[in-house]
Amino acid sequence: MTDRTGAAASTDQEDVMTIRAVVWGENIHERTNEVVAGIYPEGMHATIANALKLDPEISVSWATLEQPEHGLPVDRLAQTDVLVWWGHKDHGAVADEVVERVARRVWEGMGLIVLHSGHFSKIFKTLMGTPCTLKWREAGERERLWVTSPNHPIAAGIGEYFELENEEMYGEQFAVPEPLETVFISWFQGGEVFRSGLTYRRGAGNIFYFRPGHETYPTYHDANVQKVLRNAVKWAHNPQRAHPAILDAPNVPVEKALEPIVERGGKLHAEGEPGYR
Ligand code: ZN
Repeated sequence: MTDRTGAAASTDQEDVMTIRAVVWGENIHERTNEVVAGIYPEGMHATIANALKLDPEISVSWATLEQPEHGLPVDRLAQTDVLVWWGHKDHGAVADEVVERVARRVWEGMGLIVLHSGHFSKIFKTLMGTPCTLKWREAGERERLWVTSPNHPIAAGIGEYFELENEEMYGEQFAVPEPLETVFISWFQGGEVFRSGLTYRRGAGNIFYFRPGHETYPTYHDANVQKVLRNAVKWAHNPQRAHPAILDAPNVPVEKALEPIVERGGKLHAEGEPGYR
């Protein structure tokens, strides 16, 4: 078990083979809704973290909304290789400053896994740049997730498809940018379909959106879902050093040009002046 602060886990941070994952959970419905509390008595973040822990290459801790800085202070994020995000009830309560901080880390190379209703989180909308809207219905339908990228590392160990007996329906059109890869497409009992496993690259960071995970169903106890989550953390991990220079926009002086050039024409900026942001 990880302790209540979530600070415990990352004991082997020196081990370069270890992927340092943080599971971020909103942790509201687990405390306010009897059904959700019954399925996830320790919180959804704890169930997801425990699933990730089954892989010896992943060291995991968690963070929740109610913690100071939502459990994501600068130094902790700097030590995070992959962040897993589940939110639903109160996306608006996440401070813009923290959202900007997470986005910068993704651009620098941190992996991000966004789950289910996290499609409306500030961080996902920021990184997608689109409304991220979709159709939905809460009727406990069967979901069949088809693997559309055979041999993709995120689908390793999954057959042609897997099923969840009870899930919330998400239907197209999902207003996100065209992904790098579509790993899963879901079919629902009511007839709708949905692109339920999508990869993106933003800056140096790998992003995976994974659809299942409505809080009134035991989705994160499902063995296939847990396997996809472990696969996704390993896929999203960028072993390169963080790339903070991605935020630089240097004004390169004439004398530093690789080939000799003579300055000519009109000029807006003084020598060495930074550009506008
Ligand atoms: Zn939901």
